[in-house]
Amino acid sequence: MRRMFRRRLMPFRRLCALALLPWLAACVAEQTGPPIVSGASGARAPNHMIAAAHPLAAEAGLKMLRRGGSAVDAAIAAQMVLTLVEPQSSGIGGGGFMLHFEAASGAIESYDGRETAPASAHPRMFLDAAGKPKGFHAAAVGGSSVGVPGLVRMLEMAHQDHGKLAWPTLFEPAIALAEAGFEISPRLAGMLTRERHLRETPAARAYFYRADGSAKPAGTVLRNPELAATLRAIAKSGAIAMHHGPIAREIVAMVRGAARNPGGMRLADLARYRAVKRKPVCGPYRKWLVCGMGPPSSGGITTLQILGMLQRFDLAAYPPASADAVHLVSEASALAFADRNAYIADPDFIEVPASGLLNAGYLRSRARQIVPAKAGGRRKPGTPERRKAAHRPPQEADKGHSTTHLSVVDRDGNALAMTSSIETVFGSRLMAGGFLLNNQLTDFAFRPRHLGVPVANHAAPGKRPRSSMSPTLVLGDDGKIVMALGSPGGSRIIGYVTKTLIAALDWKLSMQDAIDLPNFLNRNRGTELEKGTRLEAVAGALKARGHRVKLIGRQSGLQGILATPGGLQGGADSRREGVAIGD
Ligand code: GLU
Repeated sequence: MRRMFRRRLMPFRRLCALALLPWLAACVAEQTGPPIVSGASGARAPNHMIAAAHPLAAEAGLKMLRRGGSAVDAAIAAQMVLTLVEPQSSGIGGGGFMLHFEAASGAIESYDGRETAPASAHPRMFLDAAGKPKGFHAAAVGGSSVGVPGLVRMLEMAHQDHGKLAWPTLFEPAIALAEAGFEISPRLAGMLTRERHLRETPAARAYFYRADGSAKPAGTVLRNPELAATLRAIAKSGAIAMHHGPIAREIVAMVRGAARNPGGMRLADLARYRAVKRKPVCGPYRKWLVCGMGPPSSGGITTLQILGMLQRFDLAAYPPASADAVHLVSEASALAFADRNAYIADPDFIEVPASGLLNAGYLRSRARQIVPAKAGGRRKPGTPERRKAAHRPPQEADKGHSTTHLSVVDRDGNALAMTSSIETVFGSRLMAGGFLLNNQLTDFAFRPRHLGVPVANHAAPGKRPRSSMSPTLVLGDDGKIVMALGSPGGSRIIGYVTKTLIAALDWKLSMQDAIDLPNFLNRNRGTELEKGTRLEAVAGALKARGHRVKLIGRQSGLQGILATPGGLQGGADSRREGVAIGD
């Protein structure tokens, strides 16, 4: 056991040895001993663990866990660092969802920090003058796509419920890094190079680009004193500092003064924002209880529908990622996505037939459409009880390089899964207070009506755009935490998470191996297999069954923690820059 630990420490020791690099400098600070870090086979640790999308964020979280902080404390510290070091993905200018498990009471709560549309939003806001939907980037870049940020309010609410350390403490690592600087990672550098619109925002241009307009290369030390000042204000006064006063005024000025698509956000929109504690959606999967985020995210219901339909198939009998297994998962997913597209939107505006969609009898009847020998093609939505909403046209932009997920389990066995986002890469490209503003409103349907009926997910003042983010918790039959998981990836998130759940629960893969297993999914638009992996070998067999097969890139960013009798197992997605660490 000891030797195994030592072996797993090696990569991190090497990282710490390289601590001359400022972005890793934090790994030597304040440690009681080197943590156990994920390498090729994942991390294992007996006490507590965090898996996050960047080593510095994970390190900040671990620091809080080591000080006796709760899972929520660790998540907040990590998220503040992510705002700085993974600016393309998430941050305080965006929103997110958190699922939390409290070990002492067994309670599972979900927190909704999704952005809201300002009062100026309207159903036709993403149509052009001719009444046609705008192209994705034509709508996303600039002011009108910016939703009222919700992340800090959500984190504050979760901290009031479950925080152990003082709120200002949680901001210390991010403030220190923003002031001292962090190194641009290779992934961020590549995105800055490929990015076409970020240079149009003067503050972003000065921060991310050189005088000649070329991207600052990997390894450049970036300092962000403006963000440090913003974080200090939030550390001192709480979320109110984001929603009132100078930071709020700067957000509104950026949105309204944007060169492209100036938006209509006002201070009153920011002042009005509230995070919401919602009932999580939970359902059985074999001997486990799986809980996810309910509407306005489609993540929880859709994942549970897929798993619910798969209950009648013995997936464990098939080899992982074999043609038979991919066929069944893909078929169940197509059926679930047909329902998702039709019925799920903000529950404060639309009556989502959640209980009908998750009803065991309904799922059994849907699953009867799955036959092992033949693919069913494009599926139509079913007729769950209490359905009301209209159909949304299956037209969604393909994205998936942004957004972030982190999972934490603390010493007391509390666990959380949090996915947060500024929507697409670098969000709206607007910057205020040292952070990027989201473009989350482009997650609304661009067309407000389809075949004469209103679309459930159309834009409206105060409404939250439908999400696919799927922070997920799994409990065992003893009521204890088994897994915390999630991923970025747009609507593919649901497929990435479902694959990983099945890989760990049915195929008994370790957390890291489950994450590494090639991705396969179906969004009712064909069967998608991860390019350059062994899944390409099953493409022929799937086509022979009638699947429309497409190959997809390596875009997931799964971070998970599996609680086993032998301790915690962490996994971080090698497709991005994440790491799982614990001790
Ligand atoms: N905005 C997306 C959502 O909320 C996430 C985008 C992504 O993962 O790239 O579902």
